Order: sequence, then structure tokens, then C-alpha cells
Amino acid sequence: MENCIFCKIASGEIPAATLYEDDQFRVILDLGPASKGHALILPKKHYANLYEIPDETAGAAMVLAKKVGTAMKEALGCAGLNVVQNNGEAAGQTVFHFHMHLIPRYEKDQVGLSWTPGTLTDEVKEEVLDKVKKILG
Ligand code: AMP
Ligand code: ZN
Repeated sequence: MENCIFCKIASGEIPAATLYEDDQFRVILDLGPASKGHALILPKKHYANLYEIPDETAGAAMVLAKKVGTAMKEALGCAGLNVVQNNGEAAGQTVFHFHMHLIPRYEKDQVGLSWTPGTLTDEVKEEVLDKVKKILG
């Protein structure tokens, strides 16, 4: 992808603060961090989002999240960790190259990742179960 900033960062064409690199991924520090240590896992191949990545890449990304998250816990002493992955503008995705956010959390930090819980009505429950299970098989 010619004009994809994360392709350029993942390939090393544009420099970034790199925490980790292997043949499939580069892990960088986010330039607009939600907290100290906020990092992004970038696959080196371009996939726009979760729907497009191969199963093996999805699995490897989660294994890497575990590895880097565990190192952050030890090194930074964070009290928690959010693994966040946005798909589509409506979900807050701004860079359309698949990435996973690793957001270290600290006691009483001001990171806002919360929502107001609604109520699961019987009607909606049945509708969602019926529609999605039909596709999942
Ligand atoms: P998302 O909203 O999930 O698409 O996340 C995109 C993230 O990429 C944001 O947290 C940005 O701060 C971050 N970001 C955008 N450009 C860069 C860059 N050049 N280097 C590092 N992080 C970036
Ligand atoms: Zn890309």
C-alpha cells in the first residue's frame, strides 16, 4: 500500500520508536499515547482490519500482545493493560492498516475506555443469537 503510513513504519521506511521487531511484526510506541508505554503492534503486511487478516496473523498478533504486555508489566510496573483493536471509522479506527493497541494502565489514570452499560432485552438477545449463529453455523 503506497500511501499507508503504517506500511512505511512497519517496513522501516519511516522511523519509529521500535520496541520489538521480527519478520512478521513491528511494535512501536504510539505518537499520541493514552498512557506511558502505549504501543502498537503492526503486521508488516498490509491488511486494513480484523476482517482481512489471515487466521495465522491474528493468532500471532495475540501471542505477541501477551509477550510485549508481559514485558511492559514487569518493566513499567503498570497495574493493568488494555488490548484494544479498532475496526472501521465508527469504531474509532483512524489508520486503516490493522493494528493492536497495548495500553498500560496505572492506578487512577485518566484513560477513558468506558461505556454506559445498557440492558440485554429478550427481543434483542433472540435477534442477535438468531442472525449471527446462522452465519457462524
Ligand atoms: P486507531 O484510532 O485505532 O486507528 O489508532 C491509530 C493510532 O495510531 C493512534 O493512537 C495514533 O496516535 C497512532 N499514530 C498515528 N500515526 C502514528 C505515527 N506516525 N507513529 C506512531 N503512532 C501513530
Ligand atoms: Zn499498510
